[in-house]
Amino acid sequence: MIKVGLLGFGGLGQAAARVLAPKGEMIWTAVADHKGYAQNKAGLDYDTLIKIYHKQGSVGFLAPDGILSSHSIQDVIKQASVDGYFLALPNLPNTFMADVARQFINSGWRGVLVDALKRTSAVEQLLALQDELQQAGITYLTGCGATPGLLTAAAAIAAQSYAEIHNVTITFGVGIANWEAYRATIREDIAHLPGYDVEKATAMTDVEVEALLNETNGILTLENMEHADDVMLELAGICSRDRVSVGGVVDTRNPKKPLSTNVKVTGRTFEGKISTHTFTLGDETSMAANVCGPAFGYLKAGISLHRRGIYGLFTAAEVMPQFVR
Ligand code: NAD
Repeated sequence: MIKVGLLGFGGLGQAAARVLAPKGEMIWTAVADHKGYAQNKAGLDYDTLIKIYHKQGSVGFLAPDGILSSHSIQDVIKQASVDGYFLALPNLPNTFMADVARQFINSGWRGVLVDALKRTSAVEQLLALQDELQQAGITYLTGCGATPGLLTAAAAIAAQSYAEIHNVTITFGVGIANWEAYRATIREDIAHLPGYDVEKATAMTDVEVEALLNETNGILTLENMEHADDVMLELAGICSRDRVSVGGVVDTRNPKKPLSTNVKVTGRTFEGKISTHTFTLGDETSMAANVCGPAFGYLKAGISLHRRGIYGLFTAAEVMPQFVR
């Protein structure tokens, strides 16, 4: 049984706990949010924790397994029994996830880490930690959500039909009922809009985000985003990063997707034919399903690497996720 910890219990962290609940191969043993953490080797209960988080604002209020703490990540690493963590944390500021990785390295903890990072510059900060992760005995899989993640991996597979890749175009449609369920995701998306950056989006109050969304009728249209699918496909040797583009539409007021999420991979076959493979996600699948499923698939793959003594940093385009039963 793989013992799993969740860092972050917002939109994705909560969905991740629900994804885990029926699994036979994984057990959820630890969780941390901004104000506290909870851990239990025998497993945590989703229904109980969700009630506590909504009513009291932190999983740290869980009795008797919760503790309130202003350095919950540091504490949970020390106290909990976990083989692999899914880092469902906001990457705000843009250096946050790399800082968390350093906390793991410095703690002496060994195991598997998986993130759903989005920005190229954020993944590049982790690439710089390659040697330190390896020496620490940590197997870290980065960019393991939907995009980057599922769609990047699909592009890596689709590329195999071609002798040369001309372009990879990812277009996502996300529908969520209200932006407050995914505060970090929406702030990080706003940071890609013309006139905004990560600092500006981080500093926005909830009221300011609300006002911006009111102006656009709840819709965010994103083009030519700085998305790590590019560096991941470049590192995997598939194409140079300038051939990868990512954009999409997010509707923050309607769970129905505004468009079908897809990746198109155009290339030239060995016979000289130019063609495009398209992989389209089912419209009924939510962002949460397409992020958390792959994240745990990569976590399972990471565990098998770790057990074979293979440590260091890998991306979702380099390793095949395994299916978690
Ligand atoms: P959210 O705002 O809903 O929740 C964030 C959680 O992290 C909260 O529980 C908060 O308490 C906790 N947290 C914040 N700071 C903390 C700290 N210092 N210590 C401990 N806990 C802390 O976030 P979300 O919308 O679920 O997004 C999480 C991340 O997932 C974002 O970075 C987002 O960009 C990413 N994401 C990736 C993809 C993908 O396809 N790759 C898709 C969606 C979201």
